[in-house]
Amino acid sequence: MSYFSYQHGALYAEGVPLADIARQFGTPVYVYSKAAFSDHYAAYATACKANGRSERDALVCYSVKSNSNLAVLNLLAGLGSGFDIVSGGELQRVIAAGGDPRKVIFSGVGKSREEMRLALSHDILCFNVESIPELHRLNEVAGEMGRKARVSLRVNPNVDAKTHPYISTGLKENKFGIAFEDSLATYRVAADLKHIEVTGIDCHIGSQLLDDAPLLEALDKVIELIDQLATEGIVLDHLDIGGGIGITYADEKPVAVSDYLNRLFARIDAWRREKHGGAPIKVMFEPGRSISGNAGILLTEVQFLKHGADKNFAIVDAAMNDLMRPAMYEAFHDVRTVAQRGEEAKVYDVVGPVCESGDWLARQRTLAIAQGDLLAIMSAGAYGMTMASNYNTRGRAAEVMVDGDKAHLIRKRETPQELFALESIPR
Ligand SMILES: *Cc1c(COP(=O)(O)O)cnc(C)c1O
Repeated sequence: MSYFSYQHGALYAEGVPLADIARQFGTPVYVYSKAAFSDHYAAYATACKANGRSERDALVCYSVKSNSNLAVLNLLAGLGSGFDIVSGGELQRVIAAGGDPRKVIFSGVGKSREEMRLALSHDILCFNVESIPELHRLNEVAGEMGRKARVSLRVNPNVDAKTHPYISTGLKENKFGIAFEDSLATYRVAADLKHIEVTGIDCHIGSQLLDDAPLLEALDKVIELIDQLATEGIVLDHLDIGGGIGITYADEKPVAVSDYLNRLFARIDAWRREKHGGAPIKVMFEPGRSISGNAGILLTEVQFLKHGADKNFAIVDAAMNDLMRPAMYEAFHDVRTVAQRGEEAKVYDVVGPVCESGDWLARQRTLAIAQGDLLAIMSAGAYGMTMASNYNTRGRAAEVMVDGDKAHLIRKRETPQELFALESIPR
């Protein structure tokens, strides 16, 4: 189902015309569909129920960095979601949004002592540890607090996720995770540390994966390691396969979440029956984009049209500071006109006002547009607002959550005064 669709020639978010949102809240503005977030989360939650009846021991930990607005986190927390965080700041958001810290897992290669203390004081579910020095630091901090830190090691299964190099994380050359060959030795180190409780294993091999084969390959390697660890008396209570399922930006056909989870659970169940007398193991996921990506769009207004000899430009009021993905990864975002009109269609590059040639949102798109028209930059719910900056002293866009026929402002547009409020001039 599409949560952003045309009705009588006008583009809507659920039951609200996008033109109304632009009029009420201005542009650029991120617009989210509450139903989309709920349905995308439900795809995971439903597939985690065995035979549609009894719950499996599974936990979906939404990746906060993909879209971290409090309203989004609050919605997902209400549906039972856990959270995958990569900073102390994200933990504070989860708590402010009403999320349960006992359902939080903490990923990332560079956790500071302060972040560790904060997470321990909230008794989070698990630290996903990525190196031996991090283990030692965590052991020290937990010791100072008189606590034990629950730990999973992020292993690097060295499988090729076949995605963009910047969002592929499971290969040997990446900075993430512990090399597969070093994992056993690292687990032995962890098991000997007094303030560390080894509870799990995790991996996250990349993002925007269209096929689940690399994920199932990673699962096989993780399973192999769990069995090896068991022979040494290191028994894990959970495995976390990470996030990474892709979405449709243009015409990609990503694997359905339900198909992927069914295949994954079938393998896990067979393994548990064969090797562990059917004893269950807790399974965790860290999806980001597949929940938030197609739950949001960036709404922008055409400021000027420039018709050149070689190229036509549509200069809009959104820019690379609002949506970094095209400049950073040459990412494709579909562009739709909010009103379908009778202008002559031309081929445009859609660009922003920022003083960089890399400031483009879309290239070579056939659009029938005029000055003042609204455009929807599609699939902008993930890694959109969370990667936005204030470059060129541009206040970050407002955010609106649509629920049926109601539009709620969930973040105000930043004012220039707010942008320099923390600065001072030395006397
Ligand atoms: C970013 C990230 C995710 C989410 O990835 P998606 O591709 O958005 O699903 C999950 N786990 C970790 C460790 C991450 O860094």
